[in-house]
Amino acid sequence: MLYAGIAWSADGYEVEVIDAEGNRATAPTRWDAERVPEMTTWLEAPGPASEPPRAVVVESTNGLVDGLLTAAGLTVYRADPWVLPERPDFGSVPARALAERARTDLASLAPLTAEGGGQTGRDDDYHGGIERSAGREAELAREGRWFRHGPRDRDEIALTFDDGPDPVFTRQVLDILARYEVRATFFCVGLHVHALPDEVRRIVDAGHDLGNHTWSHPFLPDLTPRQFRLQLERTDEAFMRAVGRVPAVFRPPYGARTPEVLGELLPGGPALALWDVDSWDWARPGPEEIARTVLDHTRQGSLILMHDGGGDRRQSVAALPAVIEGLLERNLRFVAAEALRGGARTEGAGASHEG
Ligand SMILES: [Zn+2]
Repeated sequence: MLYAGIAWSADGYEVEVIDAEGNRATAPTRWDAERVPEMTTWLEAPGPASEPPRAVVVESTNGLVDGLLTAAGLTVYRADPWVLPERPDFGSVPARALAERARTDLASLAPLTAEGGGQTGRDDDYHGGIERSAGREAELAREGRWFRHGPRDRDEIALTFDDGPDPVFTRQVLDILARYEVRATFFCVGLHVHALPDEVRRIVDAGHDLGNHTWSHPFLPDLTPRQFRLQLERTDEAFMRAVGRVPAVFRPPYGARTPEVLGELLPGGPALALWDVDSWDWARPGPEEIARTVLDHTRQGSLILMHDGGGDRRQSVAALPAVIEGLLERNLRFVAAEALRGGARTEGAGASHEG
């Protein structure tokens, strides 16, 4: 019986695998962010016994690997802060602590499924945080720094791709965008920007825009304000190293937020860009269903959420031509997400929106 823990840091991931007695089954292994598919395959037979672990455990501050792990058929659990030792300001608890928690008290962890997504079971914290954020969001919206769509009276929409860059899928998305000559915004995570700077340059060279999507895709209600600020800053630093500039827009993972972390979006910081059209592509309902969902819900000013990273995105890529063709047929123009921010105030941005 094996138990695996996956930690994240400034450099990538570390994996520890222990046996039923708590002894190391293998030496700890390190993985750069672009090797997560390889890490997933390795986890299917990590120890001398060559059996998949009874549990693979990630923190609630790591939202980038559970999709691939569950898709591969591994048994994945999320460890929430109240069952873990204190976390450093930047990084997760050690991989060993995650594996040990599974070995000694599996019932205290939250099982994750491919369909449920990374924040399964955290609905109260998710919705509670959004409700409490209304006042702060209204303030940001008045400054043009909070929006979930643009003006409803202009033929402009923004296509956005989250959780990349990805060594395989980002290029495929870029090829399709180039074929139709449309512009998009890529909300990248710092772990991937750090590991794949060439892919970020490719995005920028093709004329697309960038957004900050945190470093490790954490569930924001679990972060202290300082931890949140470091997630933003370290990601901006990775963008600076890759392309010499930082994004003007930020998108919170899962759309989760709290007034405490929003308070860290200081004057001069990025604008918070949500979305009004969710493609649900991460749940992999089939390319036709993804395209239909987007085309059914998009209207003037829409901000459309899709994914180019953080999992198996073949369906997102397959759906993209139909999405673009359907929107072009309606004479909608593809603009950068940031270009939609000015109009957010015209339609009750703030308190009434998420109520
Ligand atoms: Zn995301």
